[in-house]
Amino acid sequence: MNRKDKQMLDTGRTARRLESYVQGAWQTGKGAGKPLANAATGEVHAYIGSDGLDFGGALDWGRAVGGPALRALTVHERALMLKSIGLRLMEMKDEFHAESLATGATPKDAWPDIDGGIGTLLTFASMARRELPNAKVIPEGAVEPLSKDGTFVGQHILVPMRGIAIHINAFNFPVWGMLEKIAPALIAGMPCLVKPASSTAYVTELVVRRILEMGILPDGALQIVCGGVGDMLDHVTGQDVVTFTGSASTGRKLKTHPAIVENATRFTMEADSLNAAILGPDAGPDSPEFDLFVREVHREMTAKAGQKCTAIRRVIVPKALEQEVIASLSERLAKTPAGLPDLAETRLGALASLGDRDGVREKIAEIAKEADIVFGDPETVAVASGDADKGAFLNPVLLRCADPMNAAAPHEVEAFGPVATVMGYDGLDEAIALAMKGKGSLVSSVFTNDENVAAKLVLGLAPFHGRVMLGNRDSAKSSTGHGSPLAPLVHGGPGRAGGGEEMGGMRGVKHFMMRTAVQGTPRLLSSVTGNWVSGAPTATGTHPFRKSLAELHIGDQLVTDSRVVTKEDVEHFAHFTGDTFYAHMDSDAAKANPFFEDRVVHGYLIASFAAGLFVQPDPGPVLANYGVDNLRFLTPVYFGDSLQVQLTCKQINPREGTVYGEVRWDCRVTNQKGEVVAEYDVLTMVAKTWPLSDEG
Ligand code: NDP
Repeated sequence: MNRKDKQMLDTGRTARRLESYVQGAWQTGKGAGKPLANAATGEVHAYIGSDGLDFGGALDWGRAVGGPALRALTVHERALMLKSIGLRLMEMKDEFHAESLATGATPKDAWPDIDGGIGTLLTFASMARRELPNAKVIPEGAVEPLSKDGTFVGQHILVPMRGIAIHINAFNFPVWGMLEKIAPALIAGMPCLVKPASSTAYVTELVVRRILEMGILPDGALQIVCGGVGDMLDHVTGQDVVTFTGSASTGRKLKTHPAIVENATRFTMEADSLNAAILGPDAGPDSPEFDLFVREVHREMTAKAGQKCTAIRRVIVPKALEQEVIASLSERLAKTPAGLPDLAETRLGALASLGDRDGVREKIAEIAKEADIVFGDPETVAVASGDADKGAFLNPVLLRCADPMNAAAPHEVEAFGPVATVMGYDGLDEAIALAMKGKGSLVSSVFTNDENVAAKLVLGLAPFHGRVMLGNRDSAKSSTGHGSPLAPLVHGGPGRAGGGEEMGGMRGVKHFMMRTAVQGTPRLLSSVTGNWVSGAPTATGTHPFRKSLAELHIGDQLVTDSRVVTKEDVEHFAHFTGDTFYAHMDSDAAKANPFFEDRVVHGYLIASFAAGLFVQPDPGPVLANYGVDNLRFLTPVYFGDSLQVQLTCKQINPREGTVYGEVRWDCRVTNQKGEVVAEYDVLTMVAKTWPLSDEG
C-alpha cells in the first residue's frame, strides 16, 4: 500500500474515491460519487461512481489489447503469471484484511474471501500446469476414427474465445468472487473486466490495484469498473462471456438483455439458493453426527452474518428430533455476540449495509407467515460492541415450519442474513422432497453415519444440487464443510441457483474456451493440435531417446526388432513376480476361459518386454519414466508369438522454469501377424538440452 492510500484508509475520515481501471488508465467517473458506508460504524468509507466512462471502449480495449497478448502465451505461461500474482497477494493479505473490516466481516469471516480467494487462484495456477498441456490449443478427448482406411479422423480442440469475460460480482465475496472467476478466464486466454458489487467494491478495487501494480499481467488483461456498468452490456458480442453472481431478479434481467440474447452471449448465473442441511434418521442426539450437524448449521448461519450464497437456510431433520435440534441450536446461537468485526470477542459481524438489514427483516416477515420464530427477534438488536442503530447488525433468527410439505415461503424466500428455518421430515423420501422444494440449490449437506441413508439421500439430492457434502464422525476433523466452494469442485446449481457452473478445476477454464470438432486427415490434424495422430507422418533415424527436447519432434519414431516370447519366459516371470494366475500357468483352466485358447503371456510381461525392446540404455536426455496412460491388452499372446514395438513421439510439453519437459509416446505392440496386442501412452521426462544445463 502506498503512503497516500494508507493515510486515507487508516484515518477512515478521508474517504477515498474509488476509481475504475479501464482502457489502460485509472479513471474517476464524473461527479463526487455515491457514499459507501462502513457496515459496522455507518461512517462514510468510500465514494463510488462510474458515470461518464466509455464502457464500450473498455470492452474493445480488452478484446483488442488484452486478448492478443494473452493468446500469445501458452496455458502454462498464463498459469505461471497467476502463480506469481497469488504469491505476491499472499504477502499483502494483511492490507486486504484491514480494508475488509469495513464490510462488517470479522477476520474469521474474511478468511475464505481473502486467503481462500488467493488460494483458489494458486490452485488454478497449479492445476492448469499439471492437467493441461503447455500449449495454445488444448486437444480434448480421444481422436475419433471416422473412416475405415484411417485417412479421416476427428478431434475436439479448445481455443480461447476472442472476446472479453465480464464478471459481475456479488457484495459478499469481494476478493474470492473476483479471483475465482478471473483465474480460469485468464488461464483460458480471455481478458477480464470485473464489476464488483458497489457496497464492498473498495476491497476489490484495492486488490486489483495491487495486481496491476505488479506489472505481471499484459496490458488489457484485467480491467475493473467501480460503480454501475452503464451501457456496457449493449456492446457484448457472441465471443464475450458474462458471469453474474447476485440476486435472481438482477440475473434474469441481465440474462435477457437484448444484446446477450441476440448474440447468444455465454451467460453464467449464480443466484439465490435455499441450501439445505439434512440430519439422517440414524443421527440421534447422542451421536457425533448430531453434534456436527448443529455446529455446521450454527457456523453457516453466523459466518459472514449469514451472507453466503452457500449458507444453510433450511434445516431438515427427522420429525422426532426437531425439538432437540432447536434446543441445541438455540443454545449455540445465544452464545454468538454481535459487534464490531475487529474485536476478538465478536462472533457475529455486521450485514453489508443498513439497507440489507431492512431487506433481511422483510424476508423474515415473509417466511414467518408460514413458520414460527423459535429463536431471536429480528426487530431488536443486541450488540456487545458498536452502535446497534448505525451498524448493520442483526442477531440470529431461527424459525420452525410446522407443515413444510405444504409451505412455500421457507423454500422460496432467501433471507440473506443469519436466518434459517427448521423443518421436520417423515422418511427419507420426504426429506428429499423437502430439499427439492428449493427448486435447485448450490449445495446440500447430509449428516449421517449410515451408508444406506447416505446413498439414498445423495442420489435423490444430486439432480437439484451442484454439490452434496456428506458429514460424519470420520471426516469431522478434515472436512472442508458445507459452505466452502473449492477450486477443484464445481460450484453452481440448477434452477433457482441460476443454472450456472463455475470452477470444478479445469472444467472452469473450458467455460472460457470454444470447443470445436476438427475433422480431417491425420497429418493436417497433427499440425493443428501439435500432437502426433496415428496415421500422420513419422520420421525414423536417431533413436528418439537420444534426442533432447531441442531435437525431438512429434512423429519421431522407433520401430524395434522383434522378440519371441517362450513358455520359459512366462514361467520365469510368474515365479519371479509371484503372479501365477491360472491363465498363465494351467493349460486346461486357460482353455476353459472364454477368452483364451491356451495359456497366455502376462500383460505386464508384454509391457516389460516392450520396454526392453524400445529403451536406449545409456545415460541420456530421457530422465525418467513416470507412468503409462490408457494401457489396454487387446489380443492374447501365446507361447512362440513374437512381439515388436512401434514407439512414436506424440506430445511434447516443455515445463516452464525447469530443465525438462514431459513427453508422451504412443506405444503400440504388435504380434507376428501385425495384430495390435497392447496399446498405451508411455510418459517420460526429457531434458530440454543434453548434456543437462541449468537454464530452465
Ligand atoms: P444484485 O443482484 O442487486 O447485484 C449483484 C451484482 O449485479 C452487483 O455487482 C450489482 O452492482 C450488479 N447489478 C445490479 N443491477 C445491475 C444492472 N442493471 N446491470 C449490471 N449489473 C447490475 O444483488 P445484491 O448484491 O444487491 O444482493 C441482493 C440479494 O442477492 C441478496 O440479498 C441475496 O439474496 C442475493 N445474493 C445471492 C448471492 C449468491 O451467490 N447466490 C450472492 C449475493 C447476493 P451494484 O452493486 O453496483 O448494484
